Amino acid sequence: MEKIEIIRPDDWHVHFRDNGILKAVVPETTRHFARSIVMPNLLPPILNAKQAIEYKKRIENAIPQSDNFEPLMTVYLTEKTSKNDLKDAYNNGAVFAVKLYPAGATTNSDSGVKNITKIMPVLEMMAKIGMPLLIHGEVTDPNIDIFDREKVFIEQNLDFICKQLPELKITLEHITTTDATEYVKEGNKNLAASITPHHLALNRNALFVGGIRPHNYCLPLLKGESHRKTLVDAAVSGNPKFFLGTDTAPHLTKNKESSCGCAGIFNATYCLSILAQLFDNENSLSNLEKFISINGTYHYNLKVNNEKITMVKKAEALLFRKYLYIGKQRIEIFKPDFPVFWSIAN
Ligand SMILES: [Zn+2]
Repeated sequence: MEKIEIIRPDDWHVHFRDNGILKAVVPETTRHFARSIVMPNLLPPILNAKQAIEYKKRIENAIPQSDNFEPLMTVYLTEKTSKNDLKDAYNNGAVFAVKLYPAGATTNSDSGVKNITKIMPVLEMMAKIGMPLLIHGEVTDPNIDIFDREKVFIEQNLDFICKQLPELKITLEHITTTDATEYVKEGNKNLAASITPHHLALNRNALFVGGIRPHNYCLPLLKGESHRKTLVDAAVSGNPKFFLGTDTAPHLTKNKESSCGCAGIFNATYCLSILAQLFDNENSLSNLEKFISINGTYHYNLKVNNEKITMVKKAEALLFRKYLYIGKQRIEIFKPDFPVFWSIAN
C-alpha cells in the first residue's frame, strides 16, 4: 500500500452558508483542514466587522470538539464599504480579507461592485496595511459570452487594479482558463490564484453527459478541455502562485435540480482524495503538499501548519457517499468521473 505524509492542508475558499446547512457542512471541512477562508455571500451578505464576528461564532459552534480549526473571515465589498471599519477589523484580527464580487456574478452577489473606480480608495488602504483582496473574476455584462467572462474581467478590471496597486495582495479565485493562468504566472509577485478540485477534474462536457447535469453547474462555469489541462499543469507544477481553494458550495438538491438551478458544487467531503488522485495521475504526488498545504500560506504571509496528515492508496477504488443529509433534505457530494484510490488514514 502506497502512503504519503503531508503537512495538514488549508482550504483558501469555502462557503459554509448558515443555519442547518452550516451545521452539516462545517465538519466536512474541519475534519481535514486546519484553516479556511470563509466566503461572505450569505443572504444578506457579511458587510462589516460586527457581522463577520457574529458569523464566526456561528461557525465555531458547529466545529466538532475533536477538530482544531480556524475560520478566517471575510467582508463582502460594496461601493459603500467603510474604509475605517475594515482597517480596524483587519488590525484587530476580526477580518482576514475582503471579497470582491462584480454585481450579479454568482450566488447572492446582487450587492456586489458595479464600478471599480468607486472602490479604489478602499483598495489603496488595503494595499497599505497588507489586507488581501479576493476576487471573483468575471464580468457580468450580458453581452459578453459566459465562457469569456473571466478573460474579459482580466482585461477590463484586474489588469487596471494590478497596475494601479502592485502592492495589493490579490487572489484571483477559482480560475478556469488558460488566460487567467498565464496572466497570474506573468503578473506581479502579489498576485496569485486559487484552483478548485472540480475545475481540475472536469471540463464543460460534464454539464451535458446524456442530458443536463445540474450538479456539475458552478460559477465560473467549467471550461473546455484545453483550459482544464492548463489548470492541471499549473496546479501540479508546484508554482507558488497556485494553490487550493475548493470553492465547496453546498446547495440542497431541490435547489440544484430545478428549472433555474443554483450554481455551486459541494466537494468538501472527498476533495483531498480527489486531489491526491489527480496529482498521482500526473505523476506529481511530490507537489501535492505545495498545492494544498504550502503555497497558500506563503501568499497570505501565514505559517504552515505543524500537524501532518497521512494519505494511503488502496487497491480498491474509494466508495463515495452520494449525499450529505440535513434532516430530510440532502446535498449531493461531488464525485469525479475517474476512480479514486486515495484516502485519508488519520
Ligand atoms: Zn465561491
